[in-house]
Amino acid sequence: MVTMKELYFSDVPEKLSCARRLNERHGPDLLTLPGMREKLHNLEVLSQALQRQMAGMAMFALCKACAEKVGGGCCSAYMANETDALLLLLNMLLGVEVASQRDDSFECCYLGPQGCTLRVKPIFCLNYNCHHILTGNTSAVVKNLEKAASAVLLDQTAVEKILLRHILSR
Ligand code: SF4
Ligand code: SF4
Repeated sequence: MVTMKELYFSDVPEKLSCARRLNERHGPDLLTLPGMREKLHNLEVLSQALQRQMAGMAMFALCKACAEKVGGGCCSAYMANETDALLLLLNMLLGVEVASQRDDSFECCYLGPQGCTLRVKPIFCLNYNCHHILTGNTSAVVKNLEKAASAVLLDQTAVEKILLRHILSR
């Protein structure tokens, strides 16, 4: 039986190992739960819509510029602690090869050369309330970004609840 500490409160590498174990043990069952494939597909669609919205706002270039400055951007090593084993498991079920991309104490280990390698991210990573983004866009565009991010977050939270219920019942 997995513990809440392993799922949510252990170190970043331990949470990744926990997610891998859960995926091996429960992945096939989880994928065949009623409606699960549709739910994952829906989450994928919403996540792609968010990516398109971000690309349309040139956010990848903005964040890259921040990351190249002294002090770095938002994807710090500290932020990697916001991931949990359930979120990593959900990424695995979505087909992401979740793996540490780096071994330094500066940047989040899931930050790859093209940006974040996770399909669904921790809630704090979806909070784009910074002045670079807010000042460079109209309020309508920022609203669209918030809507797209909330839609992903609502959906991923709902799927995570199903995963957790299933895992704890075994
Ligand atoms: S979200 Fe804003 S502050 Fe954070 S890296 Fe991107 S542009 Fe910079
Ligand atoms: S967006 Fe991705 S790379 Fe950046 S801190 Fe969050 S999980 Fe890490």
